[in-house]
Amino acid sequence: MTAGSHEFTREWARFCPRCGAEGLASEDGRRHACARCGLVYFHNLAAAVCVILRRGDEIALVVRAQDPGKGLLDLPGGFVDPEEDLESAAVREVREELGAEIGTPRYLFSMPNLYRYRDVNYRTLDAMFELWIDDLPDVAPNAEIAALHWRPLASIQPYELAFPSVRAALARVRGASA
Ligand SMILES: [Zn+2]
Repeated sequence: MTAGSHEFTREWARFCPRCGAEGLASEDGRRHACARCGLVYFHNLAAAVCVILRRGDEIALVVRAQDPGKGLLDLPGGFVDPEEDLESAAVREVREELGAEIGTPRYLFSMPNLYRYRDVNYRTLDAMFELWIDDLPDVAPNAEIAALHWRPLASIQPYELAFPSVRAALARVRGASA
């Protein structure tokens, strides 16, 4: 059985993280209130970044080595750290995932996403960045990445991609490039 995000978030928040009381209530899957100690916990969305590295008519896609979306294609990127700005997160994620140093990419637009990690649903807002490069020398993917593929933008099929935000973003970029 697949639980929807709403039901699942309610289940995840069954116990109060402050006083341990059972019955933490959530009407919307986001705001969780404890009737015993008065705690109100907000399971807010998280900020994330994706980087569209472009080389001619190709873009760089990584093969995910881990769930969610193991074996599927993704853009380099990840969650923004506390006290970090989006641009720094984009550069850092490419450094960590691919071992490559890039210049500051250009912000394009944002796309909402759902990221399910170890049975917890995280709603994210993915900031999409773009950078045109000549090449990406000395790539050394980390353990999160099984491989790096350069693919013509027009050849990428939606079912190959791990996340709805990336599907939507590449469709939009492709539309703008056409
Ligand atoms: Zn409580």
